[in-house]
Amino acid sequence: MTVLVTGGAGFIGSAVVRLLMAETDEKIVTVDKLTYAANPASLGDALASNRHSLVEADICDRDAMIDVLATHKPDKIMHLAAESHVDRSIDGPGDFVRTNVDGTFQLLQAALGHWRGLADAAQADFRFHHISTDEVFGSLSPDPQDKFKETTPYAPNSPYSASKAASDHLVRAWHHTYGLPVVMSNCSNNYGPCQFPEKLIPLMILKAKAGEALPIYGKGDNVRDWLYVDDHARALWAIICHGRIGESYNVGGEAERTNIQVVDKICTILDGMLPDSAHRPHDSLKTYVQDRPGHDKRYAIDATKIRSELGWVPQEDFESGIEKTVGWYLENDAWLQAIQDGSYLNRRGSAA
Ligand code: NAD
Repeated sequence: MTVLVTGGAGFIGSAVVRLLMAETDEKIVTVDKLTYAANPASLGDALASNRHSLVEADICDRDAMIDVLATHKPDKIMHLAAESHVDRSIDGPGDFVRTNVDGTFQLLQAALGHWRGLADAAQADFRFHHISTDEVFGSLSPDPQDKFKETTPYAPNSPYSASKAASDHLVRAWHHTYGLPVVMSNCSNNYGPCQFPEKLIPLMILKAKAGEALPIYGKGDNVRDWLYVDDHARALWAIICHGRIGESYNVGGEAERTNIQVVDKICTILDGMLPDSAHRPHDSLKTYVQDRPGHDKRYAIDATKIRSELGWVPQEDFESGIEKTVGWYLENDAWLQAIQDGSYLNRRGSAA
């Protein structure tokens, strides 16, 4: 089987590729535009493997997508390519509409043509898995019983979540109108190795380690439901292999934390892992900054459907996952240094 992963050089996509390399015998094709958020080094052993190809291409380029599908003939497509950072979507929404909405449209059209050209048995087995976010559902009340279900109405509040919501609707429509066999998933906030250090957890780890101020939006009381990235990758593989066609699955770790709890936890772990640091106690670096415009208050996932239908359960809880994550960032200086000095961008020619 050949699995095509769009956005495979990004944070979650690379975790999916590493999982498929380690736990399956499938051929894997990473399709990635290699934006600032991509780092082929995150693909690890896959880069040198003849089971894996990295194709540098833009999902907005339909001819390039038609070419890649004709060349590699994937049995499954896992669509993760996206502009993914909410703050960037506020400053520059154009790229988000282009990649997340138009890019998904162009990819769907290419996938539809590819699927229609398959023999009957291959058509039946083919899947297009659209990977999305819980942010499409808007913001929850503080009531702990209030959680996002698959049936929760869409109410996106940021340009990022609006562009992802639009792409979710396109995928649903391509199934209902044209019969493309799709599955969809909406996941809560991920954390773990290889996340670009603009997102909360890696940003705080790096700043604290360097003794820089830790900027916390507003009062730090916004709540997110954190999931370790490898648990998300396992969920995605279960969904594409066993999920029901046309269905969507919510994925979450039942690990609600306020931002301030997350930062405090990181600081405590760093205090323990860096006993000689001049910056201990690291929580003295916390500073409160003006809140993000339209900042959603609370996200939480009801993951009953994926747990009961597919038997998926996360292997990490927040305590074990965050410990591993802080350790990874302390041990992988070369990966970080390449991002911080910009040398990771010098990667033309890495595509095969
Ligand atoms: P990321 O920003 O780390 O990676 C995105 C990847 O997509 C990058 O490698 C980038 O180069 C690639 N890309 C961007 N534009 C492209 C284009 N036009 N053509 C081809 N490739 C392009 O993002 P991530 O955090 O790994 O998120 C992956 C997916 O999962 C996204 O669709 C995101 O909406 C979704 N998601 C993320 C989270 C999270 O917490 N990070 C949670 C739920 C869902």
